[in-house]
Amino acid sequence: MTGRLDGKIALVTGAGGGIGRATALRFAAEGASLIVADLDETLIHKTAALITGSIAVTGDVSQRADCARIVETATKQFGRLDILVNNAGIMRDALTTRVKDGDVKMMSDDQWDAVLAVNLKGTWLMAQAAAVPMIAQKGGRITNTSSISANGNAGQANYAASKAGVIGLTRTLALEWARYHIGVNCVAPGAINTRMTAAIPEKVMEGLLARIPLARLGEPEEIAAAHVFLASADASYITGQVIWVDGGVSLG
Ligand code: NAD
Repeated sequence: MTGRLDGKIALVTGAGGGIGRATALRFAAEGASLIVADLDETLIHKTAALITGSIAVTGDVSQRADCARIVETATKQFGRLDILVNNAGIMRDALTTRVKDGDVKMMSDDQWDAVLAVNLKGTWLMAQAAAVPMIAQKGGRITNTSSISANGNAGQANYAASKAGVIGLTRTLALEWARYHIGVNCVAPGAINTRMTAAIPEKVMEGLLARIPLARLGEPEEIAAAHVFLASADASYITGQVIWVDGGVSLG
């Protein structure tokens, strides 16, 4: 059977769990060779153990040197890099750091800096690093990760700003790198059933579910499917776009 990503070399960041792991597994099932990267050494080796022939790399996407090393691992092993999925991301805010019920602390500088560093700067640094081989080979696909929070979400100023920034970055890179035949797009998930949403208090989650037209959380595999489409030849004329995979939440 032929896969939609047969023969492609794909790098997925934040592949130690959740959406990243599901995306790496789906890419492998579609015929791609995988480099999987994450900050967490134990988790990333668990993902790699699930994918025959994959390479695990530990690194921090907010650090330029780590991004270069992650991409070089891919090019040294496989000789090229066709696809980058920028998935690594964190959430640090009142939703996840409640002091006690009903007592949320104000966002700190550390929370702001950490989230912007990983979600936005990390996406930019990884894209820059991946563009080196992609420009040399005259083509590639990059799929970034935004969120419905990009439209605004009370209590998540840092996360919302980072994810809105990812959309602006996606559109700009798509314009700048079209001349190199690099397509740059973005998946914007709604509330997905991962460790990240497990950290959301039950009451907040109830409110969240009430606002989802499809009335359930999404599964990581449903985000992976969008990444596959945007990374595949089926999306060859699509660049600078955002696909909202959110059960209808962004409809308002
Ligand atoms: P997750 O916490 O399960 O997985 C994120 C992974 O990123 C983890 O394995 C973590 O170790 C890794 N990571 C964190 N910081 C890193 C760094 N500096 N360098 C490298 N790796 C790092 O979360 P998830 O729910 O699978 O989220 C994946 C992406 O989807 C994130 O960008 C997140 O913001 C986005 N997203 C998630 C949801 C959701 O509801 N789960 C909704 C919208 C957007």
